[in-house]
Amino acid sequence: MTPSPTPLLTVRDLTVDYYDQVNPVHAVRGVDLTLHRGETLGIVGESGCGKSTLVTAVTRLLRPPAVTTAGSVVLHPRDGAPVDLLRLTERELNTLRWEKIAVVLQSAMNALNPVMRLGTQFTDVLRRHRGLSKRAAQERAAELLAMVGIPADRLRSYAHELSGGMRQRATIALALACDPDLVVMDEPTTAVDVVMQRQILRQVARLKAELGFSVVFITHDLSLLIEIADRIAVMYAGEVVETGPARRLYTDPRHPYTAALRGAFPPLHGPRREIAGIPGSPPGLRTPPTGCAFHPRCPHRFAPCDHQTPVPTDDEHGTVACHLLAGPAPTTREDGRHART
Ligand code: SF4
Repeated sequence: MTPSPTPLLTVRDLTVDYYDQVNPVHAVRGVDLTLHRGETLGIVGESGCGKSTLVTAVTRLLRPPAVTTAGSVVLHPRDGAPVDLLRLTERELNTLRWEKIAVVLQSAMNALNPVMRLGTQFTDVLRRHRGLSKRAAQERAAELLAMVGIPADRLRSYAHELSGGMRQRATIALALACDPDLVVMDEPTTAVDVVMQRQILRQVARLKAELGFSVVFITHDLSLLIEIADRIAVMYAGEVVETGPARRLYTDPRHPYTAALRGAFPPLHGPRREIAGIPGSPPGLRTPPTGCAFHPRCPHRFAPCDHQTPVPTDDEHGTVACHLLAGPAPTTREDGRHART
């Protein structure tokens, strides 16, 4: 299915802080993203860049001490008016969960209830959210498992009786139980081997084409995103530093961090190339570097980089926040965050 330009989710100026007894830690800083209908948006960055915090804020799954302090997350459902998820009550949210938005977590063992058979977990969701009879829910559960290549007799199994790959595929089937508009996948293939990883990615792509849902896919592996994403957003130190079409971003990265990230993973296709780690470490978010947060590790840093925050600029290739492309930022907010465009 060709992605349509109709937005399904618009995230604007989203900011998340972790509060402790000292000062807030800015884990997500002024993020803007748009996900279109039928599209897969990949979010990539090193551990601690804020990508998982971002999606837990978007799906309203944040737990203290994390707090969303600013921004909006507007869902444009197929049927009905747009809603800002951040303004909904828990009760209102519960009507959207499973039916409009579903989440696949990194660890299927944590996502599945260890003391309930798989079948019970599927039928609970289907009866509650779809109002199916017990028999109809059992039949639908078997269909859902079949979609990810798991035989129906596994509905009698507990999570610990399944292999890691099977568990992860079962959580994907469960996420699709109520035909959601949006499926958020947080590193869904991290705990499985590369063969299973490819199988799962192929299944997700096939199901997305068949059912028409949109995907937000989080990973630290940029090469893997090329396999599945239509567009990619690259995060560093709590901010989105580059967005663009997946293939362009991979073949012609414009932000030095995107280029460094690409160089740190082996290509899945094409000629072999030398792998190079990114020197240094991601910055602590309690006291991130001034100016461009990547400047201590950037091989291209120049005069303005250590004191002026680059403003994200848009063009036909995407969005990038780097002085190399935009020139020195004329204005920077006093709190050091990007000025909005
Ligand atoms: Fe490197 Fe400067 Fe661009 Fe930051 S703004 S990525 S330090 S060139």
